[in-house]
Amino acid sequence: MNQDHSKRLFEEALTLFPGGVNSPVRAFKSVDSQPFVVDRGEGPFLIDVDGHRYLDYVLSWGPLALGHTNPLVKTAVNEALEKGWTYGAPCEAENLLAKKVREIFPSMERMRFVSSGTEAVMGALRLARGFTGRDMIVKCDGGYHGHADNLLVSAGSGLATLGTSSSAGVPGSYASSTLVIPINAPDALEEVMAKYGERIAAFILEPVNGNVGCIPPQPGNLERYREITRENGSLLIFDEVMCGFRASLGGAQERFGVRPDITVLGKVIGGGFPVGAYGASSEMMTQIAPEGPVYQAGTLSGNPIAMTAGLKTLELLQDGAHQTACARVTELEEGVRAWPEALRSKICFQSVGSMFSLFLTPGPVNNYRDAGKVDGDLFARFHRSLLEKGIYFAPSAFEAGFLSSTHRSEDIAHTLSALEDTLRQLL
Ligand code: PLP
Repeated sequence: MNQDHSKRLFEEALTLFPGGVNSPVRAFKSVDSQPFVVDRGEGPFLIDVDGHRYLDYVLSWGPLALGHTNPLVKTAVNEALEKGWTYGAPCEAENLLAKKVREIFPSMERMRFVSSGTEAVMGALRLARGFTGRDMIVKCDGGYHGHADNLLVSAGSGLATLGTSSSAGVPGSYASSTLVIPINAPDALEEVMAKYGERIAAFILEPVNGNVGCIPPQPGNLERYREITRENGSLLIFDEVMCGFRASLGGAQERFGVRPDITVLGKVIGGGFPVGAYGASSEMMTQIAPEGPVYQAGTLSGNPIAMTAGLKTLELLQDGAHQTACARVTELEEGVRAWPEALRSKICFQSVGSMFSLFLTPGPVNNYRDAGKVDGDLFARFHRSLLEKGIYFAPSAFEAGFLSSTHRSEDIAHTLSALEDTLRQLL
């Protein structure tokens, strides 16, 4: 594969950005190679600067549930651009997106828009601490909630892949107010509550984990988390930045019928533009400034272009695009199930809604420790082989894959045969 142009641009990028990138996982370090440099996106494809086309299962790490360059989103954005692109004052697009989000996530009676998932989580945690008057937070081992200081403790994906459990530059006092339990472990939550209960403001989790690969909650776990937090006077925060609009349209809370106190959204909510949101009951949101004492603000929050892209994206997902993306995951899953037992028994396919993972380990994968059984070198070879066949999976064994409404059945068939071919050679 000739990647000369990509190589030249990446070498230049190395002189400009740490690792040549503006977000660590993009560097392809964990698959021991160099990233391709993108020229453009088209539907389910990414096209690099050397002209190679890749069927994209990363989709900008989740947001592009409609694939790249959806024409209806483009038209809506172009129309919004004609009027201006930031006002620093209220605009109707904010109300329209908020009403749509509330229709889909009724637990978010009122919300605050920000510009990233990290920011939304920071706001949610400050709200939880302000509301309860408590200081400690519980999270899951391998759960990733953005790069805010007190959550860079046993966080997944980039950090898990790089083998660091935490980041330099985070004061010990911040990390020590965060307690960590395994994914899918309500007994551990009970133990932590018994020990530190009166100090625990909230338990935050990805209700469908996506940052160590796609790990669904085991039956009954979300319900138990709900009970345990309520009994302890702590809040339950669902970080649905990844699984919102994917586990089902209304996220894991709709799919599993468990209502959290605070919900955090990101990625799909902006349709590929920078939007995050946190929301809760109308009463709890009275804590947030200017109504209440919990301060949180943003120069570009509620940006009209991002609001418009988000609204059009959610409307199209509601109109059937979400079902289409889910149907493609089902096709992928059925294809994998049809493989000979000798091959199938060496891997584990897990999916929820429009997200999935193919783990190179027999599974089941229920937590970070299970996901860690995947051999890193094997995954690197798997990743390179797929890229050569024009298929782009995330360059980390600890990431979920995503489908969009633009992936066609023939794309899935092509992917299945590339996967089978690669796995037969490697396993
Ligand atoms: N929460 C979850 C579950 C995420 O997956 C991510 C990002 O991958 C974040 C929060 C942080 O979002 P952002 O990268 O937009 O800051």
